[in-house]
Amino acid sequence: MVVEGLTRRFGGRNVVHDVSLNVAPGQVTCLLGPSGCGKSTTLRLVAGVDRQDRGRILLDGTVLSDDSIHLPPEARHIGLMFQDFALFPHLSVIDNVAFGLSGAKAAKRKRAEEMLEKVHLAGFGSAYPHELSGGEQQRVALARAIAPRPRVMLMDEPFSGLDNRLRDGIRDETLDILKAENTAVLLVTHEPDEAMRMADEIALMREGEIVQRGAPYNVYNAPVDRRAAAFFSDIN
Ligand code: ADP
Ligand code: MG
Repeated sequence: MVVEGLTRRFGGRNVVHDVSLNVAPGQVTCLLGPSGCGKSTTLRLVAGVDRQDRGRILLDGTVLSDDSIHLPPEARHIGLMFQDFALFPHLSVIDNVAFGLSGAKAAKRKRAEEMLEKVHLAGFGSAYPHELSGGEQQRVALARAIAPRPRVMLMDEPFSGLDNRLRDGIRDETLDILKAENTAVLLVTHEPDEAMRMADEIALMREGEIVQRGAPYNVYNAPVDRRAAAFFSDIN
């Protein structure tokens, strides 16, 4: 997926300014920056729930959004995972996973069962979300997000609600599954160590702009300026 020169203004202020990104299949691009720098706004533009004032978004050469075209979220082949992963409490696990699928009921159920197996929750289909642990709920959310085979997965701080003990395992498991599906991942985080751990490429964002892009090792070792260095300095 290619994002070119996205700009979004709110109340006369550029909350996102001239942001360009590349997200390749099977790769994780991390949009990293402090709270309030415009990460979630950028993700909403890519998802199509909001529209940029300038710029364009392409997937495999097809325009998802520009000055004249604006495909709705459901036409973008994009999956979403947020911190507040919001499973439907009144639906069983299997129905949660099947929710975004179209087609015949039996085929949807089969696909949902395959996805539950993939996240090691085979046999949990008839349970309800409240009966599961936080980590299990997160895995159901992952199964639901990948079930429609999105080409791009947008993740907005999806791991920050989990306790530390679970987080590393779920991060790794999530990445393994997304890479196996060859999904392009755009992951938003304000935590440098999460970006260092998960990213193939980091795009460092500050006050609405990308100030540096590169492999994690390079961004960490050769920060673009003192502020970037300070931002990384609390990593251990
Ligand atoms: P981040 O996700 O990096 O913490 P956000 O993208 O949520 O940052 O927000 C960036 C800035 O844009 C914040 O100052 C926020 O208040 C502002 N903002 C986001 N959405 C709106 C909106 N709909 N109207 C006005 N200001 C907004
Ligand atoms: Mg945010």
